[in-house]
Amino acid sequence: MAKQSVIERIEKIFIEAQNSSQLNMKCGIYNKEMTEIVNRYKTQVVAWDNQMNMQENAFPSATQSLWYSHYLNKKKLRDLGIETKCIKMRPTVYPPNQNQRLSIHYSHDGKNLICKISERLLYQKNFYRNGRHIWQDGSNNRECEHYIIRSQSVNGKCICPSCGHEDIIENLIDGCDYCHTKFHMEDFDGKISSVYMPNNNSKSRDSNMLKKFSPVIYMIVVMAVLPFVINKPSWGIPLTLMALIIFLYIFFSIAGKHSVSKGPGRNRVSVDKLHEVDPLFSEEYFIASLTNKLESIHYAERMDEISAFTYCDLSHKIAGYANVLSCKLMECVITDYKSDDKIQILDVNVVMNLAEIMGMMVQNREEKIRLRLAKSIESKTSAVNDIIVYRCQSCGASVSLLNGGKCSYCGNSMEMIRYDWVVTWYDSKCS
Ligand SMILES: [Zn+2]
Ligand SMILES: [Zn+2]
Repeated sequence: MAKQSVIERIEKIFIEAQNSSQLNMKCGIYNKEMTEIVNRYKTQVVAWDNQMNMQENAFPSATQSLWYSHYLNKKKLRDLGIETKCIKMRPTVYPPNQNQRLSIHYSHDGKNLICKISERLLYQKNFYRNGRHIWQDGSNNRECEHYIIRSQSVNGKCICPSCGHEDIIENLIDGCDYCHTKFHMEDFDGKISSVYMPNNNSKSRDSNMLKKFSPVIYMIVVMAVLPFVINKPSWGIPLTLMALIIFLYIFFSIAGKHSVSKGPGRNRVSVDKLHEVDPLFSEEYFIASLTNKLESIHYAERMDEISAFTYCDLSHKIAGYANVLSCKLMECVITDYKSDDKIQILDVNVVMNLAEIMGMMVQNREEKIRLRLAKSIESKTSAVNDIIVYRCQSCGASVSLLNGGKCSYCGNSMEMIRYDWVVTWYDSKCS
């Protein structure tokens, strides 16, 4: 009963939001159902870390694109002769304890209810090669966001993932009135679509800024100390003042350029442009789902494993990532957005942290990536197809990312660009 009333309360809020055309609003109501989905997913992650085999249905609580990044990672580790064992995974407690930081936010993109659960995550896993412990990775109690997505219109009805027809769940299970696709009850459960650690973000940006200013800071110290060294203390005040003016000038010009060319300033301008075309675009959700694609690219061993969402040849990049056993998105900035009557183009700058195995040693390196993504102008709010398995447009059979998005019945290729952002250009360098 209680579970029902929470969902009803959220629905009511979004109906009101729709009436005032403010659909991408957020509200924070604790929700047992959503926390249970996160815990089911966490249990599946632990089992996955600890098992040798790689069955396709290991993550029923995750969307296909999130499951796929786990799958490619495991395959890569197996081929590198590495085994993992999860040693810590703290479940999400509902209702939250008094001193626990847990927050829940909902947003609606018009077709899906998106729920974000943020908490401090305690997760740790060990890596072994030939039985020897080589590395440890985890979340170290850092802030972590789990995104849950549920195919559900504002009025609480479900949306047919094949054709977009809105109906009650019982009718869709009998077969959609329009496209006649039959669904299972589980197809409409909420699913974890991505996991993101935003704390990585600020750390990397701050250290970059400090590095940029260190020569300026040295110069100021030298100018302030110089009068005493050459025994002319009366020069002290004018010289220090001059240094301060130079510092402020450089600070504002660098800080200004930083935020306009690739920082938050540019990001905001591009997101504003995007909102004019797609008013329900969620930047947070976009970044979280981009994480799955970037991880898949770093874990892939062959081009056809990622060709469903990569429309440019990355074979040489894949070869360069051969020893990557783990990677994390540190920073993501949208730098430009363009659209015409056919297509939307998004330019993104990304910083990733890669862990690579060299013999029995694991080394970290930072990688800067410039990406161009494209999506059909028809597809505004994304992810409808991601919630349940992807479907073939010509015969309706479910399509797996495993064989490059090709239908195994009729051979038709899924055109991902019609539903979701695909990578059309990719340039990376290490720093
Ligand atoms: Zn349908
Ligand atoms: Zn087909």
